[in-house]
Amino acid sequence: MKINISGLSEGSHQYVLTEPAGEMGMESYFAGEVTANITLEKSIHQILATVNASVKGVFICDRCADEFSDDITTHYTAVYSWENAEEREEDDDFHLLGREDNIIDLTQSVREYLQLAVPVKLLCKKNCELPEHVRSAEPETDPRWERLKLLKQTEKN
Ligand SMILES: [Zn+2]
Repeated sequence: MKINISGLSEGSHQYVLTEPAGEMGMESYFAGEVTANITLEKSIHQILATVNASVKGVFICDRCADEFSDDITTHYTAVYSWENAEEREEDDDFHLLGREDNIIDLTQSVREYLQLAVPVKLLCKKNCELPEHVRSAEPETDPRWERLKLLKQTEKN
């Protein structure tokens, strides 16, 4: 996920980058290729990157334990600047460029934003229910047994 910015003219530039999730060091539940649609807007002191990225994830449902796949998408903006006018700390959204830097590497931020986009609760469908055999395996007191016990006690007395 690298873009060569040497000789980039001022204004807006579009890119579509793809890279296998495995080669980006992503979690193993991400499958296939990561696709990133990127717009770079170059001005005198900085480049604003607007990124829309997506990847397929193969997950295990938290409720029924079935495997399912879902598209994970993310959208974020990041600034690559040759000047640190605001004395900002470098983070996922702000990167300082050296005068000689001619490559913007989006690998780490795309990876982290996609990771953050994975839902905390993974359900194969919105209202996934526990399958019947799992539910009946749960210990439960059968009210009929309770009545039977009471009957036996009464008989003894
Ligand atoms: Zn499920």
